[in-house]
Amino acid sequence: MNIGNKSPQLIDRFGRKVDYLRVSITDRCDFRCVYCMSEEMTFLPRDQVLSLEELYTITKAFAELGVKKIRITGGEPLVRRGALELLENIGKIESLHELVLTTNGSQLEHMALPLKKAGVKRINISLDTLDTDKFKAITRTGDLSQVLRGIYAAKDAGFERIKINAVILKDKNHQEVVGLVQFAVDKGIDISFIEEMPLGIVSQHNRSSAYYSSDCIKADLATQFSLLASTEKTGGPSVYYKVQGKNTRVGFISPHSANFCSTCNRVRLTVEGRLLLCLGNEHSVDLKAIIRANPGDMDILKQAIIDAMLIKPEKHEFNIHEQPVILRHMSVTGG
Ligand code: SAM
Ligand code: SF4
Repeated sequence: MNIGNKSPQLIDRFGRKVDYLRVSITDRCDFRCVYCMSEEMTFLPRDQVLSLEELYTITKAFAELGVKKIRITGGEPLVRRGALELLENIGKIESLHELVLTTNGSQLEHMALPLKKAGVKRINISLDTLDTDKFKAITRTGDLSQVLRGIYAAKDAGFERIKINAVILKDKNHQEVVGLVQFAVDKGIDISFIEEMPLGIVSQHNRSSAYYSSDCIKADLATQFSLLASTEKTGGPSVYYKVQGKNTRVGFISPHSANFCSTCNRVRLTVEGRLLLCLGNEHSVDLKAIIRANPGDMDILKQAIIDAMLIKPEKHEFNIHEQPVILRHMSVTGG
């Protein structure tokens, strides 16, 4: 395809249509979750990070190429100065159907309402446990009560949908899954359980022995809830179930036990400006170099994005039982 096409679509070599972009707007974070970061992290120097204007230009180019859904993530997106202004600007792109956000919730108590006003439709909030000490142990620096206040503020702000994301690790928080679903049911929100992915070296646990599959979680939940399979999709990798008689949906993101690559519709932009074609591979195109060499030239940028589809890999190469081959952490990747 080239940019002359009147109704452009991004299609890869395997016939998959890419209409979803995840954008990491910072690699920094106020938490240090044990599955995401090592305790000591070196963050990117400012000149290597895309400016807010550059982030906007790239998201606009994707929207002009048929992308309908943009997720803002990080790192913790809400700790970047100017995040709200960027969201407001992206929220004004008319062709977009959905602007959504993933956050650890730490800033939501004061930002939920402004985010809603900026046009954010749905919000995913990470919450791996309801136990204060375990929360501190998993996030290293986080405060559970602050995140809970953020979740309540998001509820009050009236987002179309709020979803908890929980990464489940055996013997760290696997005992929490029933309590987390009960919390979601009580608050009338959704929840997705995520199998840990081997991205970057982490120091605190052995990923192979901490592996707790979606099937194990389903078996635990079956002791308390009736989960009804649902065909509902939200444009991401979660496979959903409905809690019988309740409004809550329970999703499972299972990169190891139920590969979802054949229906992949998404690509990621790192805050360094690398367009990553797959979470579990290093195939990428340096969009920062392209926009800095050709300031203001949308055609060159859009053609580079179109051409990038040719190197989107067929599937991820994760193996939780081996040393990670992908050395970038999730915080850099944009989960
Ligand atoms: N800071 C925000 C947050 O925590 O929600 C957004 C960025 S975070 C990298 C996005 C999501 O990735 C979170 O739900 C987090 O739990 C998840 N995540 C981080 N590292 C992961 C890993 N190694 N495997 C699976 N999920 C991971
Ligand atoms: Fe920060 Fe989110 Fe990574 Fe936790 S998962 S360290 S909150 S970026």
